[in-house]
Amino acid sequence: MDNEVQTTRGQGTGDGREANGGRRQGFDTVALHAGQEPDPTTGAVVPPIYQVSTYKQDGIGGLRGGYEYSRSANPTRTALEVCLAETEGGARGLAFASGLAAEDALLRAVCRPGDHVVIPNDAYGGTYRLFAKVAEPWGVAFDPVALGDVDALRGSLRGDTKIVWVETPTNPLLGIADIATLAQVAHDAGALLVVDNTFASPYLQRPLELGADVVVHSTTKYIGGHSDVIGGALVAADAELGERLAFHQNAMGAVAGPFDAWLTLRGIKTLGVRMDRHCANAERIVEMLVRHPSVRDVLYPGLPGHPGHDIAAKQMRAFGGMVSFRMESEEVAVRVCERTELFTLGESLGGVESLIEHPGRMTHASAAGSPLEVPADLVRLSVGIEDVDDLLHDLDRALA
Ligand SMILES: *Cc1c(COP(=O)(O)O)cnc(C)c1O
Repeated sequence: MDNEVQTTRGQGTGDGREANGGRRQGFDTVALHAGQEPDPTTGAVVPPIYQVSTYKQDGIGGLRGGYEYSRSANPTRTALEVCLAETEGGARGLAFASGLAAEDALLRAVCRPGDHVVIPNDAYGGTYRLFAKVAEPWGVAFDPVALGDVDALRGSLRGDTKIVWVETPTNPLLGIADIATLAQVAHDAGALLVVDNTFASPYLQRPLELGADVVVHSTTKYIGGHSDVIGGALVAADAELGERLAFHQNAMGAVAGPFDAWLTLRGIKTLGVRMDRHCANAERIVEMLVRHPSVRDVLYPGLPGHPGHDIAAKQMRAFGGMVSFRMESEEVAVRVCERTELFTLGESLGGVESLIEHPGRMTHASAAGSPLEVPADLVRLSVGIEDVDDLLHDLDRALA
Protein backbone atom coordinates (compact mmCIF):
# COMPACT_ATOMS: atom_id res chain seq x y z
CA MET A 1 0.00 0.00 0.00
CA ASP A 2 1.48 3.37 -0.81
CA ASN A 3 2.51 5.84 1.78
CA GLU A 4 0.42 8.74 0.58
CA VAL A 5 -2.94 10.05 1.62
CA GLN A 6 -5.06 12.41 -0.36
CA THR A 7 -5.54 15.66 1.52
CA THR A 8 -9.14 16.81 1.51
CA ARG A 9 -10.56 20.29 1.78
CA GLY A 10 -11.29 21.68 5.20
CA GLN A 11 -14.72 21.22 6.72
CA GLY A 12 -16.95 23.36 8.86
CA THR A 13 -14.98 26.31 10.09
CA GLY A 14 -11.66 24.48 10.35
CA ASP A 15 -8.89 25.12 7.90
CA GLY A 16 -8.13 22.10 5.81
CA ARG A 17 -4.53 21.71 4.89
CA GLU A 18 -3.71 22.56 1.30
CA ALA A 19 -0.95 20.44 -0.11
CA ASN A 20 1.85 22.50 -1.68
CA GLY A 21 1.18 22.76 -5.38
CA GLY A 22 -1.36 19.92 -5.18
CA ARG A 23 1.36 17.44 -4.16
CA ARG A 24 0.08 14.52 -2.08
CA GLN A 25 1.58 14.55 1.39
CA GLY A 26 2.67 11.50 3.36
CA PHE A 27 0.62 10.13 6.24
CA ASP A 28 2.76 11.51 9.06
CA THR A 29 2.78 15.00 7.59
CA VAL A 30 -0.99 15.00 7.34
CA ALA A 31 -1.40 13.61 10.87
CA LEU A 32 0.88 16.32 12.26
CA HIS A 33 -0.58 19.28 10.41
CA ALA A 34 -4.12 18.73 9.11
CA GLY A 35 -6.55 21.01 10.94
CA GLN A 36 -3.67 22.35 13.03
CA GLU A 37 -2.56 25.64 11.53
CA PRO A 38 -0.83 27.83 14.15
CA ASP A 39 -3.41 29.74 16.20
CA PRO A 40 -4.23 32.96 14.29
CA THR A 41 -4.26 35.20 17.37
CA THR A 42 -1.21 33.93 19.30
CA GLY A 43 0.75 31.75 16.89
CA ALA A 44 0.50 28.78 19.31
CA VAL A 45 1.81 25.84 17.27
CA VAL A 46 -0.71 23.37 18.63
CA PRO A 47 -4.46 24.01 18.84
CA PRO A 48 -5.33 25.31 22.32
CA ILE A 49 -7.89 23.55 24.52
CA TYR A 50 -10.94 25.75 23.97
CA GLN A 51 -12.56 24.87 27.31
CA VAL A 52 -15.65 26.95 26.57
CA SER A 53 -19.37 26.32 26.11
CA THR A 54 -20.55 29.48 24.32
CA TYR A 55 -19.25 32.30 22.10
CA LYS A 56 -19.93 36.05 21.88
CA GLN A 57 -22.02 37.03 18.89
CA ASP A 58 -21.37 40.35 17.13
CA GLY A 59 -25.07 41.12 16.73
CA ILE A 60 -27.60 38.29 16.57
CA GLY A 61 -26.26 35.53 14.35
CA GLY A 62 -22.94 37.35 13.90
CA LEU A 63 -20.65 34.44 14.62
CA ARG A 64 -16.87 34.77 14.66
CA GLY A 65 -15.57 31.73 12.83
CA GLY A 66 -18.95 29.99 12.92
CA TYR A 67 -18.93 28.96 16.58
CA GLU A 68 -22.05 29.47 18.71
CA TYR A 69 -22.27 26.58 21.22
CA SER A 70 -19.74 23.80 21.88
CA ARG A 71 -22.11 20.86 21.42
CA SER A 72 -22.55 22.03 17.83
CA ALA A 73 -18.90 22.90 17.25
CA ASN A 74 -15.77 23.66 19.28
CA PRO A 75 -12.42 24.75 17.77
CA THR A 76 -10.34 22.04 19.49
CA ARG A 77 -12.80 19.39 18.35
CA THR A 78 -12.84 20.85 14.83
CA ALA A 79 -9.05 20.53 14.65
CA LEU A 80 -9.34 16.85 15.54
CA GLU A 81 -12.26 16.29 13.16
CA VAL A 82 -10.38 17.79 10.21
CA CYS A 83 -7.31 15.73 11.06
CA LEU A 84 -9.38 12.51 11.31
CA ALA A 85 -11.06 13.22 7.95
CA GLU A 86 -7.75 13.82 6.22
CA THR A 87 -5.88 10.86 7.69
CA GLU A 88 -8.71 8.57 6.52
CA GLY A 89 -9.08 10.38 3.19
CA GLY A 90 -12.75 11.24 3.83
CA ALA A 91 -14.90 14.32 3.30
CA ARG A 92 -16.02 14.74 6.91
CA GLY A 93 -14.76 13.64 10.31
CA LEU A 94 -16.75 13.74 13.56
CA ALA A 95 -15.44 13.17 17.08
CA PHE A 96 -17.58 11.56 19.78
CA ALA A 97 -17.41 10.86 23.51
CA SER A 98 -16.65 7.17 22.84
CA GLY A 99 -16.49 4.63 20.05
CA LEU A 100 -19.92 3.32 21.00
CA ALA A 101 -21.41 6.84 20.96
CA ALA A 102 -20.09 7.18 17.39
CA GLU A 103 -21.63 3.81 16.46
CA ASP A 104 -24.98 4.77 18.00
CA ALA A 105 -25.12 8.08 16.11
CA LEU A 106 -24.31 6.30 12.84
CA LEU A 107 -26.95 3.65 13.44
CA ARG A 108 -29.68 6.22 14.16
CA ALA A 109 -28.68 8.41 11.21
CA VAL A 110 -28.86 5.55 8.71
CA CYS A 111 -31.48 3.10 10.04
CA ARG A 112 -35.16 3.27 10.92
CA PRO A 113 -37.25 0.65 12.75
CA GLY A 114 -37.93 -2.12 10.23
CA ASP A 115 -34.45 -1.96 8.69
CA HIS A 116 -31.81 -4.69 8.77
CA VAL A 117 -28.06 -4.68 9.38
CA VAL A 118 -25.36 -7.32 8.90
CA ILE A 119 -22.56 -7.41 11.49
CA PRO A 120 -19.45 -9.63 11.74
CA ASN A 121 -19.98 -12.89 13.61
CA ASP A 122 -16.98 -11.98 15.75
CA ALA A 123 -17.71 -8.27 16.16
CA TYR A 124 -16.38 -6.28 19.10
CA GLY A 125 -18.54 -7.32 22.08
CA GLY A 126 -19.84 -3.80 22.70
CA THR A 127 -20.93 -3.49 19.07
CA TYR A 128 -22.81 -6.78 19.38
CA ARG A 129 -24.45 -5.57 22.59
CA LEU A 130 -25.46 -2.27 20.94
CA PHE A 131 -27.23 -4.17 18.16
CA ALA A 132 -28.69 -6.92 20.38
CA LYS A 133 -29.82 -4.85 23.36
CA VAL A 134 -30.42 -1.35 21.96
CA ALA A 135 -30.97 -1.43 18.19
CA GLU A 136 -33.03 -4.62 18.05
CA PRO A 137 -35.54 -3.54 20.74
CA TRP A 138 -35.80 -0.25 18.76
CA GLY A 139 -36.84 -2.33 15.74
CA VAL A 140 -33.63 -2.78 13.72
CA ALA A 141 -32.98 -6.47 12.96
CA PHE A 142 -29.44 -7.78 12.55
CA ASP A 143 -27.63 -10.94 11.51
CA PRO A 144 -24.10 -11.88 12.58
CA VAL A 145 -22.29 -13.29 9.51
CA ALA A 146 -18.78 -14.64 8.86
CA LEU A 147 -17.63 -11.80 6.61
CA GLY A 148 -14.53 -13.64 5.42
CA ASP A 149 -17.09 -15.63 3.37
CA VAL A 150 -18.58 -13.41 0.63
CA ASP A 151 -21.25 -15.98 -0.28
CA ALA A 152 -22.44 -16.03 3.32
CA LEU A 153 -22.79 -12.24 3.13
CA ARG A 154 -24.73 -12.39 -0.15
CA GLY A 155 -27.09 -14.94 1.41
CA SER A 156 -27.80 -12.71 4.39
CA LEU A 157 -28.65 -9.51 2.49
CA ARG A 158 -32.30 -8.44 2.36
CA GLY A 159 -34.23 -5.73 0.56
CA ASP A 160 -34.22 -3.69 3.76
CA THR A 161 -30.50 -4.15 4.60
CA LYS A 162 -29.11 -0.66 5.19
CA ILE A 163 -25.64 -1.40 6.56
CA VAL A 164 -22.99 -4.06 6.13
CA TRP A 165 -20.77 -3.57 9.17
CA VAL A 166 -17.23 -4.86 8.91
CA GLU A 167 -14.31 -5.15 11.28
CA THR A 168 -10.97 -6.14 9.84
CA PRO A 169 -8.89 -7.38 11.56
CA THR A 170 -11.55 -8.61 13.98
CA ASN A 171 -11.43 -8.63 17.73
CA PRO A 172 -10.22 -10.99 19.22
CA LEU A 173 -9.90 -13.65 16.49
CA LEU A 174 -8.05 -11.42 13.99
CA GLY A 175 -10.16 -12.51 11.04
CA ILE A 176 -9.71 -10.57 7.78
CA ALA A 177 -12.43 -9.36 5.43
CA ASP A 178 -11.88 -8.11 1.87
CA ILE A 179 -13.03 -4.49 2.06
CA ALA A 180 -13.12 -3.79 -1.69
CA THR A 181 -15.18 -6.92 -2.44
CA LEU A 182 -17.58 -6.35 0.46
CA ALA A 183 -18.08 -2.73 -0.64
CA GLN A 184 -19.23 -3.95 -4.05
CA VAL A 185 -21.55 -6.57 -2.62
CA ALA A 186 -23.05 -4.07 -0.14
CA HIS A 187 -23.51 -1.39 -2.79
CA ASP A 188 -25.14 -3.84 -5.23
CA ALA A 189 -27.71 -4.51 -2.49
CA GLY A 190 -28.24 -0.79 -1.82
CA ALA A 191 -26.51 -0.93 1.58
CA LEU A 192 -23.66 1.15 3.00
CA LEU A 193 -20.34 -0.46 3.87
CA VAL A 194 -19.21 0.63 7.33
CA VAL A 195 -15.71 -0.38 8.47
CA ASP A 196 -14.64 -0.33 12.10
CA ASN A 197 -10.97 0.54 11.51
CA THR A 198 -9.98 0.57 15.19
CA PHE A 199 -7.55 -2.37 15.01
CA ALA A 200 -5.68 -1.24 11.89
CA SER A 201 -5.84 2.56 12.28
CA PRO A 202 -5.66 4.79 9.19
CA TYR A 203 -1.89 4.37 9.13
CA LEU A 204 -2.20 0.69 8.22
CA GLN A 205 -5.47 0.65 6.29
CA ARG A 206 -7.72 3.23 4.57
CA PRO A 207 -11.12 1.66 3.95
CA LEU A 208 -12.64 4.69 2.19
CA GLU A 209 -10.07 4.32 -0.61
CA LEU A 210 -11.25 0.72 -1.01
CA GLY A 211 -14.91 1.70 -1.41
CA ALA A 212 -16.25 1.88 2.15
CA ASP A 213 -18.78 4.65 2.92
CA VAL A 214 -18.05 5.27 6.59
CA VAL A 215 -15.13 4.48 8.89
CA VAL A 216 -15.75 4.02 12.62
CA HIS A 217 -13.07 4.34 15.29
CA SER A 218 -12.70 3.82 18.94
CA THR A 219 -10.04 6.56 19.20
CA THR A 220 -9.56 5.23 22.73
CA LYS A 221 -7.26 2.64 21.15
CA TYR A 222 -4.42 3.26 18.63
CA ILE A 223 -5.35 6.81 17.60
CA GLY A 224 -5.29 8.13 21.20
CA GLY A 225 -2.59 5.58 21.87
CA HIS A 226 -1.73 6.29 25.50
CA SER A 227 -4.55 4.66 27.52
CA ASP A 228 -5.59 8.04 28.87
CA VAL A 229 -8.74 9.04 26.97
CA ILE A 230 -12.06 7.51 25.79
CA GLY A 231 -13.22 8.70 22.38
CA GLY A 232 -14.81 7.72 19.09
CA ALA A 233 -14.97 8.93 15.52
CA LEU A 234 -16.90 8.65 12.28
CA VAL A 235 -15.39 9.58 8.93
CA ALA A 236 -17.71 9.75 5.93
CA ALA A 237 -16.50 9.35 2.35
CA ASP A 238 -18.94 11.91 1.00
CA ALA A 239 -20.02 15.29 2.28
CA GLU A 240 -23.77 14.66 2.07
CA LEU A 241 -23.65 11.62 4.34
CA GLY A 242 -21.15 13.52 6.52
CA GLU A 243 -23.70 16.29 6.95
CA ARG A 244 -26.40 13.80 7.98
CA LEU A 245 -24.04 12.27 10.56
CA ALA A 246 -23.12 15.75 11.84
CA PHE A 247 -26.81 16.52 12.31
CA HIS A 248 -27.16 13.41 14.49
CA GLN A 249 -23.95 14.19 16.37
CA ASN A 250 -25.40 17.55 17.38
CA ALA A 251 -28.96 16.29 17.91
CA MET A 252 -27.91 13.33 20.07
CA GLY A 253 -25.11 15.25 21.77
CA ALA A 254 -22.47 12.64 22.63
CA VAL A 255 -19.59 14.86 21.47
CA ALA A 256 -15.91 14.69 22.44
CA GLY A 257 -15.08 17.36 25.04
CA PRO A 258 -12.28 19.86 24.31
CA PHE A 259 -9.65 18.22 26.53
CA ASP A 260 -10.44 14.74 25.20
CA ALA A 261 -10.25 16.08 21.64
CA TRP A 262 -6.89 17.68 22.44
CA LEU A 263 -5.44 14.47 23.93
CA THR A 264 -6.64 12.49 20.93
CA LEU A 265 -5.10 15.00 18.54
CA ARG A 266 -1.82 14.79 20.43
CA GLY A 267 -1.97 11.01 20.07
CA ILE A 268 -2.64 11.01 16.34
CA LYS A 269 0.57 12.98 15.67
CA THR A 270 2.70 9.95 16.59
CA LEU A 271 0.35 7.27 15.22
CA GLY A 272 2.67 6.36 12.35
CA VAL A 273 5.85 5.97 14.39
CA ARG A 274 4.00 4.11 17.14
CA MET A 275 2.34 1.71 14.69
CA ASP A 276 5.69 0.87 13.08
CA ARG A 277 7.00 -0.23 16.47
CA HIS A 278 3.76 -2.02 17.46
CA CYS A 279 3.94 -4.04 14.24
CA ALA A 280 7.67 -4.81 14.48
CA ASN A 281 7.32 -5.96 18.10
CA ALA A 282 4.23 -8.05 17.29
CA GLU A 283 6.09 -9.83 14.48
CA ARG A 284 8.92 -10.83 16.83
CA ILE A 285 6.44 -12.07 19.43
CA VAL A 286 4.53 -14.08 16.83
CA GLU A 287 7.79 -15.76 15.74
CA MET A 288 8.41 -16.79 19.33
CA LEU A 289 4.85 -18.01 19.98
CA VAL A 290 4.70 -20.08 16.79
CA ARG A 291 7.75 -22.06 17.97
CA HIS A 292 6.64 -22.40 21.57
CA PRO A 293 5.67 -26.02 22.43
CA SER A 294 2.80 -25.10 24.77
CA VAL A 295 1.08 -22.70 22.35
CA ARG A 296 -1.51 -24.56 20.29
CA ASP A 297 -2.27 -21.95 17.62
CA VAL A 298 -1.27 -18.37 16.85
CA LEU A 299 -3.78 -16.01 15.21
CA TYR A 300 -2.02 -13.22 13.29
CA PRO A 301 -2.77 -12.03 9.76
CA GLY A 302 0.96 -11.68 9.05
CA LEU A 303 1.38 -15.48 9.19
CA PRO A 304 1.37 -17.00 5.68
CA GLY A 305 -0.95 -19.77 6.93
CA HIS A 306 -3.60 -17.32 8.16
CA PRO A 307 -6.69 -17.67 5.92
CA GLY A 308 -6.86 -13.89 5.37
CA HIS A 309 -3.15 -13.37 4.83
CA ASP A 310 -3.23 -12.51 1.11
CA ILE A 311 -6.10 -10.04 1.52
CA ALA A 312 -4.44 -8.44 4.54
CA ALA A 313 -1.18 -8.10 2.58
CA LYS A 314 -3.14 -6.37 -0.20
CA GLN A 315 -5.15 -3.92 1.90
CA MET A 316 -2.89 -3.23 4.90
CA ARG A 317 0.54 -1.58 5.10
CA ALA A 318 1.59 -4.02 7.87
CA PHE A 319 -0.25 -6.53 10.03
CA GLY A 320 -0.82 -4.65 13.26
CA GLY A 321 0.02 -4.92 16.94
CA MET A 322 -2.72 -7.32 18.05
CA VAL A 323 -1.86 -11.01 18.50
CA SER A 324 -4.10 -13.81 19.80
CA PHE A 325 -3.12 -17.37 20.65
CA ARG A 326 -4.71 -20.53 21.99
CA MET A 327 -3.41 -22.65 24.83
CA GLU A 328 -4.31 -26.26 25.62
CA SER A 329 -7.15 -25.31 27.99
CA GLU A 330 -9.00 -22.41 29.58
CA GLU A 331 -7.16 -23.01 32.83
CA VAL A 332 -3.75 -22.68 31.18
CA ALA A 333 -4.83 -19.60 29.23
CA VAL A 334 -6.00 -17.89 32.42
CA ARG A 335 -2.75 -18.80 34.16
CA VAL A 336 -0.66 -17.22 31.39
CA CYS A 337 -2.70 -14.00 31.66
CA GLU A 338 -2.11 -13.86 35.39
CA ARG A 339 1.63 -14.57 35.25
CA THR A 340 2.99 -11.83 32.99
CA GLU A 341 4.54 -8.77 34.60
CA LEU A 342 5.31 -6.34 31.77
CA PHE A 343 2.15 -7.26 29.88
CA THR A 344 -0.45 -5.73 32.17
CA LEU A 345 -3.62 -7.75 32.71
CA GLY A 346 -6.34 -5.43 31.50
CA GLU A 347 -9.03 -4.68 28.94
CA SER A 348 -8.61 -2.24 26.05
CA LEU A 349 -5.78 -2.15 23.51
CA GLY A 350 -3.70 0.09 21.30
CA GLY A 351 -1.79 1.96 24.01
CA VAL A 352 1.99 2.28 24.13
CA GLU A 353 2.14 -0.18 27.02
CA SER A 354 1.58 -3.91 26.43
CA LEU A 355 -1.63 -5.52 27.67
CA ILE A 356 -2.76 -9.14 28.03
CA GLU A 357 -6.26 -10.44 28.57
CA HIS A 358 -8.54 -13.47 28.50
CA PRO A 359 -11.35 -12.51 26.07
CA GLY A 360 -13.71 -15.28 27.22
CA ARG A 361 -13.82 -13.98 30.78
CA MET A 362 -13.08 -10.31 30.14
CA THR A 363 -13.78 -8.27 26.96
CA HIS A 364 -16.05 -10.87 25.41
CA ALA A 365 -17.77 -12.24 28.52
CA SER A 366 -21.02 -10.58 27.39
CA ALA A 367 -20.93 -12.69 24.18
CA ALA A 368 -21.10 -16.00 26.13
CA GLY A 369 -23.88 -18.19 24.78
CA SER A 370 -24.28 -15.99 21.66
CA PRO A 371 -23.04 -16.65 18.13
CA LEU A 372 -20.09 -14.43 19.06
CA GLU A 373 -18.81 -16.59 21.90
CA VAL A 374 -15.00 -16.88 21.75
CA PRO A 375 -12.85 -19.95 22.56
CA ALA A 376 -12.14 -20.32 26.28
CA ASP A 377 -8.47 -21.18 25.67
CA LEU A 378 -7.79 -17.88 23.88
CA VAL A 379 -5.32 -15.22 25.07
CA ARG A 380 -5.17 -11.76 23.45
CA LEU A 381 -2.13 -9.47 23.43
CA SER A 382 -2.00 -5.79 22.65
CA VAL A 383 1.71 -5.55 21.92
CA GLY A 384 3.13 -2.24 23.11
CA ILE A 385 6.25 -0.33 22.13
CA GLU A 386 8.55 -1.46 24.96
CA ASP A 387 11.92 -3.05 24.12
CA VAL A 388 10.94 -6.28 22.45
CA ASP A 389 13.52 -8.41 24.25
CA ASP A 390 11.89 -7.49 27.55
CA LEU A 391 8.46 -8.42 26.18
CA LEU A 392 9.76 -11.76 24.87
CA HIS A 393 11.35 -12.55 28.21
CA ASP A 394 8.13 -11.71 30.07
CA LEU A 395 6.00 -13.96 27.87
CA ASP A 396 8.51 -16.77 27.91
CA ARG A 397 8.44 -16.77 31.72
CA ALA A 398 4.62 -16.74 31.83
CA LEU A 399 4.38 -19.64 29.36
CA ALA A 400 6.90 -21.82 31.18
C1 LIG B 1 -13.11 -0.50 22.00
C2 LIG B 1 -13.76 -0.76 20.70
C3 LIG B 1 -14.99 -0.16 20.36
C4 LIG B 1 -15.77 0.69 21.34
O1 LIG B 1 -15.13 1.88 21.61
P1 LIG B 1 -15.24 2.68 23.04
O2 LIG B 1 -14.33 3.82 22.82
O3 LIG B 1 -14.81 1.72 24.11
O4 LIG B 1 -16.68 3.06 23.18
C5 LIG B 1 -15.49 -0.42 19.11
N1 LIG B 1 -14.87 -1.22 18.22
C6 LIG B 1 -13.70 -1.82 18.52
C7 LIG B 1 -13.05 -2.70 17.51
C8 LIG B 1 -13.10 -1.62 19.76
O5 LIG B 1 -11.96 -2.25 20.05
